[in-house]
Amino acid sequence: MDNIDNFIGNQHLAPVSKNYLDNICPATGQVYGSIPNSDEADLELAIVAAKRAQKSWAQMPSEQRSDILIKIAQLIEQNLEELAQAESLDNGKPISLARSVDIPRAASNFKFFAAAASQFASQAHHMPNNAINYTLRQPVGIVGCISPWNLPLYLFTWKIAPALAAGNCVIAKPSEVTPKTASMLGKICQQAGLPEGVLAILHGEGKTIGNLICQHRDIKAISFTGGTQTGAYIATQLAPQFKKLSLELGGKNPAIVLNDCDMELTLNEIFRASFANQGQICLCASRIYVQREIYQDFKRALVEKAKALMPADPANEQTAMGAIVSKPHLNKVLGFIERAKQSGATILTGGEQVKLAGRLADGYYLQPTIIEGLANEHECNQQEIFGPVVTLTPFDSIDEAITLANDSDYGLAATVWTKNLANAHDIAEQLQTGIVWVNCWLHRDLRTPFGGMKQSGLGREGGEEAMRFFTEAKNVCIKYT
Ligand code: NAD
Repeated sequence: MDNIDNFIGNQHLAPVSKNYLDNICPATGQVYGSIPNSDEADLELAIVAAKRAQKSWAQMPSEQRSDILIKIAQLIEQNLEELAQAESLDNGKPISLARSVDIPRAASNFKFFAAAASQFASQAHHMPNNAINYTLRQPVGIVGCISPWNLPLYLFTWKIAPALAAGNCVIAKPSEVTPKTASMLGKICQQAGLPEGVLAILHGEGKTIGNLICQHRDIKAISFTGGTQTGAYIATQLAPQFKKLSLELGGKNPAIVLNDCDMELTLNEIFRASFANQGQICLCASRIYVQREIYQDFKRALVEKAKALMPADPANEQTAMGAIVSKPHLNKVLGFIERAKQSGATILTGGEQVKLAGRLADGYYLQPTIIEGLANEHECNQQEIFGPVVTLTPFDSIDEAITLANDSDYGLAATVWTKNLANAHDIAEQLQTGIVWVNCWLHRDLRTPFGGMKQSGLGREGGEEAMRFFTEAKNVCIKYT
């Protein structure tokens, strides 16, 4: 059994209550460890430790903070294999993906914000009548970072790294569904020389410890990534406290494929955008709109590719599609497919749970699924499914495609596929999403603003945006005559 503990004051501590939750391996459906079911008492320990560390961490020269973050990145790289194995076991993602994407990106997050710590600057505004304003950018204090299960260490570090770089103490909570690599990060931070109390990692359920972190008066900002419903609830709770809040929420991402696209590139990338990580990436394509002239050819080729993708043991090097993260999530995704069938949709491929043999017999596997023939109002085109399920819909004009794409409560990301860059610019300008990728998907530059419009979130992460979120701006005006 793999039992993990909280990380408080650079120590791995059992929860004060001694209550634990099961940790289940999605590939086998079996309990393989336990995690603390943390509560107020654990949070208070973390707050006391953070208060002790706060001043010296905030006042540490940024170069020294930066050195510690670089050391954390290096240790993540040195432990890449062990972290990748843990991520794959905990989440069900293919080991190849954890090795090539999740863990390298966690290291990049620390490297990137190590540089930001030493280069972040503020503005000065000179006034004509002998006065000058300068802006101080001060750490917020103690901040809370809460992350989801789909890219566990990748998204956990995407929040923690900028918060630390800006001089804050952090109380972080990974998803209770995928706690393992977060717990390993604690040890790495300790080895890298992060001072005691600067980072606490508390495990447990959202409705208990997550909620307590959000509500705590000494925690001055919350950076949250997760579902839209959870984000909405947190926003209502925090509004009366006027707490700084960053929300990265769900998506229902359209892909617009024009007649003049590079067919091979588009098929390969849309296939990846649809099914990578079992379709459990907030940025995955979920509504694919294809211009009528190439619709049948595109459909045939995409279905053929999907048919060849079979879920298999995530631990196997060759596996391209692993397990769905949990049983409740698998049932949720199957529910959408069932209701699409009942609505008269055509399941072009997939749609069924997969039973693997031997120790994987109780794991959560689902065929990649492509659905055709649903109206844009159907829940499969409106609600986030967050699994290996996409819908295909033909369109005639570019205006029609933009209308269909924007007909959504969500506004996270979109992709556009065309060789005509004038059309691409025009469409990108009109799409109501925080991110538009043209002829590519998930091509990330960490300096760019990351986040969504509408019900996909509030605020932006990445680069300067994150450093600004994790600091308070203070204007100082000096009159010098
Ligand atoms: P979730 O909202 O259920 O949980 C996310 C995190 O919030 C978990 O750590 C959970 O324990 C915690 N939580 C739950 N209730 C809480 C509460 N009341 N107070 C405080 N914390 C609480 O989401 P999930 O199922 O873990 O993740 C999937 C969702 O995350 C999808 O909707 C996906 O689109 C979204 N997501 C968004 C982005 C983005 O950048 N926009 C990235 C990844 C995932």
